[in-house]
Amino acid sequence: MTKEQFANKYFNNITSISGAMKFIIFVAKHQYKVNVKFYNKDDDLGGFYDIDESIIYINIYHNKDIEDFLSTFFHELGHHQAVMNKRWTIYHDTFIDDIHLLSRGDFRRYNMTALKAERWVDNWGMNELSQFFPDIQYKKAYIAEPDVQYLREPILKAKQKLKQL
Ligand SMILES: [Zn+2]
Repeated sequence: MTKEQFANKYFNNITSISGAMKFIIFVAKHQYKVNVKFYNKDDDLGGFYDIDESIIYINIYHNKDIEDFLSTFFHELGHHQAVMNKRWTIYHDTFIDDIHLLSRGDFRRYNMTALKAERWVDNWGMNELSQFFPDIQYKKAYIAEPDVQYLREPILKAKQKLKQL
């Protein structure tokens, strides 16, 4: 069975957010062997991936429709996929608050990797979603300038800290 046939058979036209959530929980567990947790918090994050625990967190506060939920899920799943395949390790292994602790060489590599990694993850997520639901639009996370800025900010802050050392 292809992913599209699977989606059609068990999740034929997802018409509600709760339907999207059911799909997410099911495929995460059975297809990708990763856990998903939903939470509700008024902060800047639509979701994140906990590398140590292999858990995808999805913030229901920021995801407002079916496309949002599926895009966030497949984006974070892309991080999971990248980590499993040891892709962009300097980016995934470094906590945002610890960037300034990197060596100069690692900081440079982190800086060069961050946006590349996020765009790779976006492309992976878009492709993966389309295999299940060709008609559902994936919303890329790192296209708009504010989102790119959100990624650059902690890097610039760390750069300042590094200069003061
Ligand atoms: Zn990301």
